[in-house]
Amino acid sequence: MGTKGRKIVGEGVDKIIEKLNKALADEWLAYYQYWVGAKVVKGPLRGPVSAELNEHAGEELGHAEKLAERIIVLGGTPLLNPQDWFKMTNCDYEAPQDSCAYTILEQNIKGEQCAIEFYNSLLAELKDKDAVTYNLILEILEDEIEHEEDLENLKEDIEKMKK
Ligand code: FE
Ligand code: FE
Ligand code: MG
Repeated sequence: MGTKGRKIVGEGVDKIIEKLNKALADEWLAYYQYWVGAKVVKGPLRGPVSAELNEHAGEELGHAEKLAERIIVLGGTPLLNPQDWFKMTNCDYEAPQDSCAYTILEQNIKGEQCAIEFYNSLLAELKDKDAVTYNLILEILEDEIEHEEDLENLKEDIEKMKK
């Protein structure tokens, strides 16, 4: 980005870059959790659950892409080493040890709820500081809210089948 484009962000730019790198770590971990979950999932509704997990994996990768691009524009460096994902993550990673569709949904719902909280508080920090990053995070937050809803709907479907 040009010097003026960076300058309007002001003094907090390093802190913003760090937060974006934390989000980047979360997105990569979320991507893999969905991706591998879609492969191993078993039990009721495995087909639709696997399809939804795969779709979300792709969307999390898209978030990582947007975050990395913004980090670079702000003059930062996106995390270069996957080991840093675990050092920087807010929302952590939950391995789908139990391949039951219901359990995997619960794990991913937890991840989405963490992401929603993180992005929502990041928006509050960015407000009046960096309109462009604010917009980007708002777009991502909208996706995470949709993800949570999709997963909760599938979880509800499984619960209804059991009755
Ligand atoms: Fe995401
Ligand atoms: Fe998500
Ligand atoms: Mg979806």
